Amino acid sequence: MIRLKNYIDGRLEEPQSGDYLDGYEPATGQVYSQVPDSDNRDVERAVRAAQRAFPGWKDTPASERSKLLLKLSALIERDLEKLASAESRDNGKPIGLARVVDIPRARDNFAFYATAILHEESEAHLMGTSGFNYTLRHPLGVAGCIAPWNLPLYLFSWKIAPALASGNTVVAKPSEVTPMTAFMLSELCIEAGFPPGVLNIVHGLGPKVGEAICSHPEVPVLSFTGGTATGKRIAQVAAPMFKKMSLELGGKNPNILFADCDFDLALKTTLQSSFANQGQICLCGSRILIERSMYERFRDAFVERVRQLRVGPPSREDSKLGALVSQAQFEKVQHYVDLAREEGGRILCGGAPVQLEGEWAGGWYFEPTVIEGLGPQCRVNQEEIFGPVVTLQAFDTVEEALQLANDTTYGLSSTVWTSSLEKAHRVAAALHTGIVWINCWLVRDLRTPFGGVKQSGIGREGGFEVLRFFTEPKNVCVALPKS
Ligand code: NDP
Repeated sequence: MIRLKNYIDGRLEEPQSGDYLDGYEPATGQVYSQVPDSDNRDVERAVRAAQRAFPGWKDTPASERSKLLLKLSALIERDLEKLASAESRDNGKPIGLARVVDIPRARDNFAFYATAILHEESEAHLMGTSGFNYTLRHPLGVAGCIAPWNLPLYLFSWKIAPALASGNTVVAKPSEVTPMTAFMLSELCIEAGFPPGVLNIVHGLGPKVGEAICSHPEVPVLSFTGGTATGKRIAQVAAPMFKKMSLELGGKNPNILFADCDFDLALKTTLQSSFANQGQICLCGSRILIERSMYERFRDAFVERVRQLRVGPPSREDSKLGALVSQAQFEKVQHYVDLAREEGGRILCGGAPVQLEGEWAGGWYFEPTVIEGLGPQCRVNQEEIFGPVVTLQAFDTVEEALQLANDTTYGLSSTVWTSSLEKAHRVAAALHTGIVWINCWLVRDLRTPFGGVKQSGIGREGGFEVLRFFTEPKNVCVALPKS
């Protein structure tokens, strides 16, 4: 049994309560780790340590902060295989995905922000001969960073890296469902020589540890990725305290396929955007909107390809889908498939758990599922499922496609498939989402603004946007008196 520890003030330590939560291996459904069941006492210790470390860290030259973050990035690269296998075991995702996407991206997040701070500049506003203004950007202090379970180290580092790079110290909480790689990261931080208190990682439950971070008066800035309901709760707690907040929340993303698209590319990519990571990526497209003249051709080809996707143990190289992350997530997916049937949907393929044999028999596996015949207002087309379930709907005109695409409370991302340049740009401009991919999906350039609109969140991360978020601008005005 692996027993994790908190990382506070440069040391690995037991939770103050001495209590631990069970950590499950989704592939088997068995407990395999013990996760600190921390509480506000641990958060308090972490915030105090981060406060003590802040003056020294903010005054550390950017070039030195950069070197340390690059060292951490190099250690992640060194341990890539070990981290990938831990991520796959903790989350249930196929090992190939963890090896090619999750861990390389965590490595790149640190390297990207380590080098971004070497290229920062600030504004000056000139007032002719009477003076000028310039903008200073100060780090805010102790940043609270809270991450979900779907891309554990990838999203954890996406917050921590820019917060640290811009001179803040950090108190962070990974999801208690997938804490393993965050724990391994704390060991790497010690090896890299991080000063005590610069980064603190407190494990435990959201309502205890997460809420203690969000409500702490000495944590002025919060970066959160997770569900919309949790985001609302955090906003309720933090808004009256006037904290700066970035909330990256849920989605119900549309894929719009026009009949003039590159059919084979659209088909191949839509398979990925539907079922990568068992559909548990906030950017997965869960509503596939198809121009009517191509509907049957696409549907039939898509269903045939989905049937070929192999669901299997995450540690096997040929598994295309692994296990869902938890019993709760497994039950949620089953619930929505049942609801789809009640709402009049036709299950074209999938729709049931997958029962594996032997040591995998207790794992949370579910068939990739395709549903048609549901109206746009059905709950299955409105609510985030966050699993391997997609629906198909037909449309006749660009206007109807946009109406369907925009008709949800969410607005994270979308894809548009067409060979018409004019149509692609017109539709992209009219979509109510923070991110639009034209003839591709999940092509990520870390310099670009990342985030959603409506109930998919507020604020933007990525690139220099997030470095601005993690700093406070101060205008300095210099008047030049006439002589
Ligand atoms: P949750 O909202 O349940 O949890 C996210 C994190 O918040 C976890 O660490 C959780 O802890 C913590 N938390 C829970 N309650 C509180 C609280 N009251 N105060 C502070 N923190 C709290 O999301 P999931 O982990 O289930 O992740 C899936 C969701 O994340 C989906 O909705 C998905 O769309 C969204 N997501 C959004 C992305 C984006 O960029 N917009 C990217 C990836 C995912 P614990 O796990 O212990 O409960």
